[in-house]
Amino acid sequence: LIQLYIPLNFMGMLYREIKQALIDIDDMFGILERDPEVVDRPGARPLVVSRGTVAFEDVCFSYVPERPILKGVSFSVPAGKTVAIVGPSGAGKSTISRLLFRFYEPSGGRILIDGQDIAEVTQDSLRAAIGMVPQDTVLFNDIIGYNIRYGRWNATDEEVAEAARLAQIDRFILSLPEGYDTPVGERGLKLSGGEKQRVAIARTILKGPPILVLDEATSALDSFTEREIQDALDRVSRGRTTLVIAHRLSTVVGADEIIVLDRGVIAERGTHVELLAQRGIYAAMWDRQRQAEAARETLKRAEEEE
Ligand code: ATP
Repeated sequence: LIQLYIPLNFMGMLYREIKQALIDIDDMFGILERDPEVVDRPGARPLVVSRGTVAFEDVCFSYVPERPILKGVSFSVPAGKTVAIVGPSGAGKSTISRLLFRFYEPSGGRILIDGQDIAEVTQDSLRAAIGMVPQDTVLFNDIIGYNIRYGRWNATDEEVAEAARLAQIDRFILSLPEGYDTPVGERGLKLSGGEKQRVAIARTILKGPPILVLDEATSALDSFTEREIQDALDRVSRGRTTLVIAHRLSTVVGADEIIVLDRGVIAERGTHVELLAQRGIYAAMWDRQRQAEAARETLKRAEEEE
């Protein structure tokens, strides 16, 4: 029996390792959204995060040489502060988060964390320091508890439950037939976009990284869900350096600085109040979104009255 046990045990270990590797690859942006040639440089050292300051210095980038996406972007996120990036679709907002993870390398300029060029540090240490709440969270075909614990494997059940509570997903989980043991994902219970995002927030709370990147979902959420998610995000970002890639302007009102990206350059920057006063791109986007929201609410009310 022992002869059978050893290979089986080994295969189990191998299976877990392969599964983990696949999950890691799949985790944030998917297999396709990274350049396989970006690897650790010889002699790369681990990133040492002291305060968690992020700085983009004159960053240029293109996926294909003939089409520049970022054309000299400079901004910094002071430790513990929140900077939001807004702008039209295709402006290069999500590209900024991919570069921060070093899924791609800038063609010019530098990205620094606490003064260390991220191109010079090990990828493992870089990614351990950054928590990501992506646009579309991939749920693994496993129980919901596993999906949260993915943020930190050695977390206790109490810590998982506390993270779920902070992410405002605990009541939903407890209403499920098997609670934290309910299978989810492709072959289990299908969660809504808002629920999946809260699972991702719970994961990130458990991971507890000093730097956070929130890539907001483009899909419109109803205003109640949106408020719940906003509350959860506010809690997780408190005291952490946070970069928000925003598609809905309601989530950026409280940011310390808002950066308006347009065709690869920073077109405007300032707080919500400052940008509204400028009557530029941001103010126009804000007006348009308010009108769209008002129209949606009127439509909903009319449907309810029918
Ligand atoms: P949205 O608000 O629609 O999510 P965004 O501002 O986040 O847009 P990015 O995802 O950063 O935009 O993409 C910027 C541009 O780069 C887009 O025109 C997109 O088509 C292009 N792009 C993105 N990924 C790739 C890729 N892997 N290869 C080539 N071009 C890409």
